[in-house]
Amino acid sequence: MVYNRCMTVDGAIWRDQLTAAERAELGRGHAAIPDRRPDILIVGGGIMGVATAAACHEAGLGSVLLIETGRLGTGATGGASGLLIPEPHRWSDPEPLVDLERASLERWRELEHRLPNGVGLSDIDWIGLAPHPGGFAAHQPPSVEWLAPGQVEQLIPGLARSMEGALIRGQARVNPLRAVARLAAGLPAVATGVAATSVTVRGDRVVTVSTSAGDVDPGVVVFATGQPPVLDGLPVNIPSDRVKGHLLVTEATSVTLPGIVAPVATQLEDGRLLAGGTFDIGDEDPAIQPDVIASIMDGLVAALPAAKGLGIAYQWCCFRPRHPDRRPVIDHVPGLDNAWLTSGHFRTGILNAPATAAVLARWISAGQPPAEPGTWSATRFSR
Ligand SMILES: Cc1cc2nc3c(=O)[nH]c(=O)nc-3n(C[C@H](O)[C@H](O)[C@H](O)COP(=O)(O)OP(=O)(O)OC[C@H]3O[C@@H](n4cnc5c(N)ncnc54)[C@H](O)[C@@H]3O)c2cc1C
Repeated sequence: MVYNRCMTVDGAIWRDQLTAAERAELGRGHAAIPDRRPDILIVGGGIMGVATAAACHEAGLGSVLLIETGRLGTGATGGASGLLIPEPHRWSDPEPLVDLERASLERWRELEHRLPNGVGLSDIDWIGLAPHPGGFAAHQPPSVEWLAPGQVEQLIPGLARSMEGALIRGQARVNPLRAVARLAAGLPAVATGVAATSVTVRGDRVVTVSTSAGDVDPGVVVFATGQPPVLDGLPVNIPSDRVKGHLLVTEATSVTLPGIVAPVATQLEDGRLLAGGTFDIGDEDPAIQPDVIASIMDGLVAALPAAKGLGIAYQWCCFRPRHPDRRPVIDHVPGLDNAWLTSGHFRTGILNAPATAAVLARWISAGQPPAEPGTWSATRFSR
C-alpha cells in the first residue's frame, strides 16, 4: 500500500483555522462502515476523494460511501498552499491542463455560492515578480497586466530590488482542510480510520474491496489515493513518484502584500505570511528539514528586508503525487468496467478537484468520458 502522507503535515496552519465542527468533520465515522453495499465507494479522503464523493452524491448516483485511512485531508491535501491560480499556470502547464484548471476554478466559485456555508474561498490577485527585465513577456497570457518597476513598488512597498511584475486579477485561494470539511459535511456516509487493503475482481468487475474494518461490496469504486492505488488484487501499474515540498507561515506582521506575490509569499487573512512550496527532488524523508525552512525564510527576508526577525509560527512539509508527464490520470482502472481512478495531481490538485470530480461523476452516470480521454489516460505511459 502507498500512503502519500508526511507525518509533519499536522504542523500546517490549516487545522488551527477551523471551527470545532469543521475539525470534527475531518475525523467523522471513525473505524465504522455505515454501508457495506454502497452504489459508489470512494477510496481516499483527500480533496479528490471528497470532491468526487460530493459530486456523485449531488448527481444522485445512489448511495455513496467514502473511506479514508487516516483523517480526511491527511495526505498532500492537508499540506497544500490552497492557491487556486489557473492563469499563472499558462506559463508552465500544457493547454488541456490549464483548461481543466480554469474550468475547476469556475466550479470552486459555484460551490462557494451553492453550499450552505460555502467552501471558504477568498478572491485574491496574483503578482509575479520578474527578476530580469522582460522576463515574462515571451509567454504572456492575455489576462496579464504588465507592471513597470515603479508600479510594483507602489503595490509592494519595501521590496529589496526594483523589479518588473505581472499582475493577474481574479484568482482565488482556500484553506484546503476547510474546503474538505465543508464538502464532507454534505456526504451521507464517511468512514475515517479505514484503509482499503485488497480487492477481489471477477471478470471485468471489482466485486469486493476488503478494508481494515471488513469487506465492502460496491456497485462502483473510485480510487482517489494521491498516487495510484497499490492494493492486492488490483491490476494497476502506472508510473508515479512524489515530490516533497516545505512551507512556513510567519507570525502576524505589519509587512503587507497585495495578495499572492510569487515567488515571495502570500498574505493570509490575519496578516501572517505563507511562504515556500519548495520542490525537494529526491528527498523521501517525511521529516521537516530545518535547512530548507531556513532557506525559505532567507529568501523572504532577501525580498522583503522588513521581514527580518519575524518569527516562524508554523512549518511543515508534504509530498505532491506526480506522474512522469506531470499530468494527472483520470480514467477507468485498466480492464475494469466498474472501477475508476484519479491520481498524480502534482501541484494543482486542490485547484483541479471539482472539475475532476465532475468528469468522474459524468462518466459513471452517463458513460461519458472526458473530451480528451488520451490526455488523462492510465495507459498513456505504456505506449
Ligand atoms: C507543498 C505543497 C503545496 C501545494 N500547493 C498547492 C496549491 O497551492 N494549489 C493546488 O491546487 N495544489 C497544491 N498542491 C498539490 C495538492 O496538495 C495535491 O495535488 C492534492 O492534495 C492531491 O489530492 P489527492 O486527494 O489526490 O491526494 P491526497 O491528498 O494525498 O489524498 C489521498 C488520500 O488517500 C488516502 N489513502 C491512500 N491509500 C488509501 C487506502 N488504501 N485506503 C484508504 N485511504 C487511502 C490517503 O491517506 C490520503 O488522505 C501542493 C502540494 C504540496 C506538497
